[in-house]
Amino acid sequence: MKNEKAKDIGLGIKGPKESCTDSKCAWHGELSVRGRLFKGKVKSAKSSKTVIVEWGYNKFVPKYQRYERRKSNVTAHNPPCMKAREGDSVIIAESRPLSKTKTFIVVNVERGKE
Ligand SMILES: [Zn+2]
Repeated sequence: MKNEKAKDIGLGIKGPKESCTDSKCAWHGELSVRGRLFKGKVKSAKSSKTVIVEWGYNKFVPKYQRYERRKSNVTAHNPPCMKAREGDSVIIAESRPLSKTKTFIVVNVERGKE
């Protein structure tokens, strides 16, 4: 494997220690990230190079003047250098559509030990 340095993707996030040759990698590929960035938890990592990320967010409900917890599932590309697994907290960034359902890429993984 080539020892390419991870490029700066301009989000204030540190790149991974490992390198990869995935062209759909935000750090090592030609892919550029733009748009939204958010944290989520990996719900499923069963398919190769794809993770399903659960995205919890608060939605304001005007009727009750309160926030309501909502969840949605997002599929994201999981490049080989990220190795996101089920239960990991990940930061995913928006990109161009990568496949029929994927428009996000995993850019950072925080391994959960709980
Ligand atoms: Zn990579």
